[in-house]
Parts: sequence; C-alpha cells; structure tokens
Amino acid sequence: MRRVLAMAVAALGIALGGAWAARADNRPAPKGPDEDGTKPALVKIAGEGMMDSHAFQYLTELSDDIGSRVTGSPAERKAEEWGRAKMKAMGLENVRTEKYQLWRGWTRGTAQAEILEPIHRALHVDAMGWTGSTPAGGAEGEVVPVNLFDIEEEAKHASRLSGKIVLVMSYGTPKRDEDSLFAIFGDFLKAAGKAGAIAVIGGQAGSRASGLNLTHTGILGFDGDFSVPVVSMTAEDQGQLERYIASGKKVRVRFNVQNTFSSGPVESANVVGEIRGREKPEQVLVVGAHLDSWDLSEGTTDNGTGSASVLASAEAILKSGMRPRRTIRFVLFTGEEEGLDGSFAYMKQHHAEMANHLGDLVLDSGQGPVKEFMLGGRDDLVASFRPFAQSLASIRNIAVNDKVENGTDTLPFSMAGLPGICMDQDSPDYKYTHHSSADALEAVKPEVLAQNATVMALTAYWIADRPERFASPWPAEKTAKMLKAQHQDVMLKVFGLWPKEFAEAEKKEETPN
Ligand SMILES: [Zn+2]
Repeated sequence: MRRVLAMAVAALGIALGGAWAARADNRPAPKGPDEDGTKPALVKIAGEGMMDSHAFQYLTELSDDIGSRVTGSPAERKAEEWGRAKMKAMGLENVRTEKYQLWRGWTRGTAQAEILEPIHRALHVDAMGWTGSTPAGGAEGEVVPVNLFDIEEEAKHASRLSGKIVLVMSYGTPKRDEDSLFAIFGDFLKAAGKAGAIAVIGGQAGSRASGLNLTHTGILGFDGDFSVPVVSMTAEDQGQLERYIASGKKVRVRFNVQNTFSSGPVESANVVGEIRGREKPEQVLVVGAHLDSWDLSEGTTDNGTGSASVLASAEAILKSGMRPRRTIRFVLFTGEEEGLDGSFAYMKQHHAEMANHLGDLVLDSGQGPVKEFMLGGRDDLVASFRPFAQSLASIRNIAVNDKVENGTDTLPFSMAGLPGICMDQDSPDYKYTHHSSADALEAVKPEVLAQNATVMALTAYWIADRPERFASPWPAEKTAKMLKAQHQDVMLKVFGLWPKEFAEAEKKEETPN
C-alpha cells in the first residue's frame, strides 16, 4: 500500500543492528549454492526463467484483459479466477482460493471540481479510496488551509471548517514522524467530516502530487474509511490554489464527488497454489505479491509486476522439473491496498502452521530491477543469505540487509518473527505510476520483469531447498525488540496493530525483577 502522505520529512535512520558486524564465533562460513548442493537445480530454473518466460504475457493479460481490480469488486473477483486458472494450468498443487471478509466495500463514482474565484476553470481531482461524497449535484465553498504539521490542533478547531473546502498544506517543522502523522491525519479527517467540511484536498497531504498533471489515489489508513470526500489534486492545480492563498486572495471552489460504500463487509480471497516439498512438505516458504490494485489505470506496476513474477517464478521451477526439499506456497494476496488485509487474513487462517513457516518473499516496489533483499528484521540471516545473493552476480548485483518493509505483505510475516523478505527494486518512475492514471503496461520493460521473476524463482528455490532450514519464527519478545529497534513500533501502535504479546513483552522488559 505504502503510505500516501508523501511528505518532505527526512526518513528516520534505520539501525542495521549486528548485520554488518564480523562473526564473533568460529562457526564455519555459510554455504552458498556452490557448496550446498542447490546449484544444478538453480541453473535449470534460471534457464527456464530467462529463456522461456511468460511473465510479460501474464502481465499483459492482467493489465489489459482484467484491468483495475479494487478489492471486493467484480473485477477483483475476475482476477482471482484468472490467477487460479493460471496456477492450475501450469501444474501447481492444491490450488485454491482462501476467502476472508473486508470490513467494507467501496466503489469510485465521479469527481469533478472547478475554481469559481478568483478565476473560473476546471480543476483535476480524483477521490481517495474509501472516502465519501458531496451532496448530490455538488457543493461550493471557500478554500481554507490547514497545516498538516499542526494537525492535532487543527482537529481540535475543526468546527471552523463547516461548509468549507479544506486545503491541507505543510509549513514549519513536523512535531511527529511521518507514520504517526499519517495516523493522526485520519483523526483530523473524522473531525472535519463531523464538522461538515464539504471536501478535503489532501491526497498528498501537504505536498504536491508527483508527475505532470497526475493524481494519486490510495487508502488513508489501515482499513480507514471516511465520510468526508478527500481528493488528490494535480500538482499544477494545487500549486495555483496555494499561491492564491499565500497572497491573501479569497478562493472559492465547487466540488461534486460521488462514491459508494457497501452496507456491510464484502468477500475477497487470496489465491494459493503450491509446489510440495519432497522431504519436509510441512515446512512452508510463502512467495507472494498482491493481485488487487487501485482503479485510475490498469494496476500494472502496483502490483501486476509482482503478481506476474509470482506466477512466472512458479512456472520456471515447475518446468525445471526440480522439486525442493520444502514446500513453496505461491500466494496472490488481495486487500493489500486497503491495509494488508489479505496477508493479515493469511496469518490468521494459517496460525496453527506458523511454526512451520520459513518466511515470505514479496515483490511490490514497481517496475525496476531488484536492487536489494530486505530480510524483514532478521539480522541473524544476513550472513547465511549473502553467499546466495553473491551467486546471482552474473545476473545482477543485489545487496542484502535486515530492514523491515512495512508497506506491503512482508509486514505481517515480520510481525510474526519471520523474515518478511522484500525484493526491493530500483524504480525511479514508480513515484509517477504509483496509484495514478499512469500505472499502465507502458511503464514495464519485459526483460526486467523476466529477470525479476527469475530472481524470485531462484531465491524461493534456494531457501526451500538448502539442506539447513533457513529460518524459524522468533519469539514475540525478540520480535517486539527488533520492531522497536527498526522504529516500526510507533506506527504499529498508533494504528492499533501492536499485538498484545508485544505489549506484554514490553511491560516485562520495563519491570525490574
Ligand atoms: Zn502495492
């Protein structure tokens, strides 16, 4: 999902823990594919993945034939069926959908805006996901700025926003980090809606939308829905409003935004298929990406590229004829864009077999080549993973670190103490295609996609097949400590996602015995 408040706040430094520290003991050096017996299989898989890839064909079908697929919508259901049919046709085992409920469904209608004063012309806007509507036929009002960096105070004085159009800007210095601001922004939107604000211009809350004449939709919290219409406005149009406001001019705008919420929860499903392990089939590595998308374009780079990679990586392994020691479970998650709902549902549904999981491997950073393996908080695995990454050197140099990625389906696995491995990509254009009308097939190079899918297949096979088990879940106490060290705790707490076991572990830590 990635948070959509793309603010100009310096990213917090991330402690790398002991990842780079020299090995203090005399354990033998970790083995890569050249020493651990996995190399012949990997060579075959690489051949299939690079020479006979269907990744771009899958991506084309998903983009052009199915198109945008918002979780819980008929198009998303069609994508589930498509994914299931592909998995079956290529010969995956135990192909199924695993249903769960999304708290509420949402359908985009229309979003129109025009500036009435001091000049008159149309403005370019799109509604943010899971936000509401103006009265039928629209409403007009004066534009009033609020400061994101002082958003708690703004929420307290929300009554002044009654009958106004709210323009979210940011000036001064933030008192909080980006993640907590994002959470508190939700509280502000609730207050503004209650006060009777007509609409909020705040898709990028306080910064301009990236790209030429582009808007970027998205969710405004984990499972966050808001009755007040919130829109993303193009940088050019928002800039003009901001300049009028700064020069003290009175600005009037008319909005007509129409969206529909479902009356209750809606059904969605993750799509699952497996290559069963030959020796320890009960041990499972999840290889995943999210099938759902936003709806301003085709959802190609977010996350058609990941979905096509999951399917193509499965196919490369199947066609190689090699069967790994442990099970590889390929999962096309849904509900990711609404708050990682599909992967959180997976953790619940598979709770009983979590001790047998090895982690998950996810590609969801756009259209560029894979540049680093983020091992999702597991600094203890960096040394054993590095020889594998080095074995890919003739395909691409890929770095290894222990960082946590909280913006995609890796997070629930990292929270379970498992390596939620993000195959982070070098995607400089992703800031334009992300959730925008530019998220289409034009943005993707077939050869980069095939290479990413091959790297995914090789990584999955190596983890599942190496003689030693790659990872077991950490206990809650250790996981909570790691998440704090990686500055994930503040965000998880403000969104109410910090589990009870973590809170208890923290208390124990604080109480001297
Ligand atoms: Zn995504």
